[in-house]
Amino acid sequence: MSRIVDPNGDPIGEDRDEFFDPALRPKSLDEYVGQERIKANLRVYIRAAIQRGEALDHVLFAGPPGLGKTSLAYILGEELGVEVRTTSGPVIERGGDLAALLNNLQEREILFIDEIHRMNRAVEEVLYPAMEDYEIDVVLGTGPGAQSVKLPLQRFTLVGATTRAGLLTSPLRARFGIQCSMDFYTAEELVLIVTRSAERLGVEITSDGAEELGSRCRGTPRVANRLLKRIRDFAQVEGSGVIDRDLARMALQRLGVDAVGLDDMDRRILTAIADKFDGGPVGLTNLAAAIGEEADTIETVYEPFLIQEGLLQRTPRGRMLTRGGWEHLGHVPPQSSAGQGAPASETEQKELF
Ligand code: ADP
Repeated sequence: MSRIVDPNGDPIGEDRDEFFDPALRPKSLDEYVGQERIKANLRVYIRAAIQRGEALDHVLFAGPPGLGKTSLAYILGEELGVEVRTTSGPVIERGGDLAALLNNLQEREILFIDEIHRMNRAVEEVLYPAMEDYEIDVVLGTGPGAQSVKLPLQRFTLVGATTRAGLLTSPLRARFGIQCSMDFYTAEELVLIVTRSAERLGVEITSDGAEELGSRCRGTPRVANRLLKRIRDFAQVEGSGVIDRDLARMALQRLGVDAVGLDDMDRRILTAIADKFDGGPVGLTNLAAAIGEEADTIETVYEPFLIQEGLLQRTPRGRMLTRGGWEHLGHVPPQSSAGQGAPASETEQKELF
């Protein structure tokens, strides 16, 4: 099922939006809105690497889908003036495939591995010596006569992106010299993104129209751009072509996006916890079964925003609605549930990313 606020790309893995509108992807750090601390630090590391004529240290971007990790990987390539080769964790089946990719890299080039937490262990082990010593172990021949030789690599930069940093093994994580944890965007930043995207798409949007959309897109640029394209359709067919506040409100309502930007699936999660599990705590697997969605998708795509909005809480005993969650559904929070359950520990919260 495809959802309008699905921050994941296309179900088949190709982000169709990007395919049709590469123009919406920011091309430089200056064009890249928000994530100010990350940008400021990256500027320093990029400059230092260029001055020394060295490859940038390995970089890890962690955070929910659609927050701009892939965009940043390509921007690193632009800013460093090097090629970016792209692959993704689940696509690399054998260690030999990764070894071939690494061996083809030129000096200072970037290998971008999306969903790096989904790489299998045998493949991952090829990365350790590659990242640390710029070499790979190659086994020549089979049986008793097999020989292991070290093949030197060019000095390259590995850029990894993950929606689940908690699932990364510690030896892999430790090999990233630069680790960036991405935040959801503020409404103001999203207004800027929406305004720029509208300009690039050649659609007129008023400032209050952009504010409406910017505050209802799950803090996620990809969602903002996707909603913008659908609202543009409503403006074209049922409006005057201009996206103002009223048009944006009408279109968002038709798209099933509520006042704080939640969509049907978000509401199904909250409603299921309220109605079927008395507000929780409920284990992830039970919750997933109750709403017919993958546990992993709930955890990576939906939960982070619901938690950030203070509607859902992760406790050691499972997920539960917060007071805000009950109120969002229009219910009075039951006495027993308000503030019940210990808040998730810091490690558990971090597991989300
Ligand atoms: P991720 O890799 O984290 O899933 P992407 O880098 O693919 O996210 O971003 C999705 C889309 O959202 C981009 O193509 C771009 O259109 C938009 N986007 C993401 N981050 C930004 C940003 N900081 N400024 C402007 N647009 C952004």
